[in-house]
Amino acid sequence: MKLGQLGEFGFIDRIASRVGPAPGVRLGIGDDCAATVVPAGELLLTTSDLLIEEVHFRRQWTNLRDLGRKSVAVNLSDIAAMGGTPRHLYLGLGIPQQMRVEDLDAFMDGLLAEAESYGVMLVGGDTCSSPGPLLISVTVEGGVPEAELVTRGGARSGDAIYVSGTLGDSALALHKFQMDEAPDPYLAQRHHVPQARTGLGRALARARTASAMIDISDGLLADLGHVLKASCAGARLERQEIPLSAPFRRELGKDGGLWDLALAGGEDYELLFTVPPERQAGLDELAGRLEFPLTRIGVITPSDDGIAVKDSRGQDCPLPAAGFNHFASTFRSGRE
Ligand code: ADP
Ligand code: MG
Repeated sequence: MKLGQLGEFGFIDRIASRVGPAPGVRLGIGDDCAATVVPAGELLLTTSDLLIEEVHFRRQWTNLRDLGRKSVAVNLSDIAAMGGTPRHLYLGLGIPQQMRVEDLDAFMDGLLAEAESYGVMLVGGDTCSSPGPLLISVTVEGGVPEAELVTRGGARSGDAIYVSGTLGDSALALHKFQMDEAPDPYLAQRHHVPQARTGLGRALARARTASAMIDISDGLLADLGHVLKASCAGARLERQEIPLSAPFRRELGKDGGLWDLALAGGEDYELLFTVPPERQAGLDELAGRLEFPLTRIGVITPSDDGIAVKDSRGQDCPLPAAGFNHFASTFRSGRE
């Protein structure tokens, strides 16, 4: 069935029938606004991301279920980076007239499953037809106790720099797709269905372990750069400490140029955070309880130092142009 046959309201009813009540949601889909409860003592966190077909994704490279999942995860990652708990989701769609309802159902399957797995409820949105590409706008609201908010601005000289998980996997998968090669399935998975580190972000915030935090969406160097700018600080990174997956390492063994992807490739959706020396013991304790790795990759330095990346002999590494600039390339999968 084509979406045109179902119509805007038929489509909204179809979505609404799949969403139930939730604590803290007084009104969800169906009125002019959603009405939700902000718990006392919490700040409301709100984040929004736009995904545009042929700019951020290609339907020939991803299936719609995975796209639904990823649309949620990239927003949850921003809530994680502030130390918050995600709660509500809003979905804006610009849908090509000829799109099949079955494909939209697959997208919604992925979106709703992902949201549910993080305890997040879809409470509203907007639906229009698009004369061209599929447009997806996801907004997520969450909350954080006021004293536990973690920003980009709190890093100080001497703080250790940590990242979660491994870096470069998603960018390497995209690189392969762009060369018409099939990436290793693990790398493809990392690209199509990234995981938001909400549990980690919350744990770091609750224990007041992180002095600054950001999620790595635009690449390690670009996102570290955002932290340094907000914190008026510099950084020294040890390149050999950057955590890499086994499939990434295998490819790196064949092509040393792939270091650029680990340093500047986007869409890892891992957390980068800084830890003051007096909080190190707390971090070690937390790291012992987690199922995925946290790796110390460098140290915050005074602001005049900028970013230095050292190789295993202590020599400066050549730096790739940091991150991606949305208006400088014709296609990238990711977001700003
Ligand atoms: P209005 O014209 O008052 O903005 P709409 O007809 O656009 O109302 O939407 C009706 C209801 O359906 C609202 O509660 C809105 O939040 C919800 N809604 C519309 N599109 C979506 C969507 N894609 N996902 C979730 N909820 C949606
Ligand atoms: Mg509307």
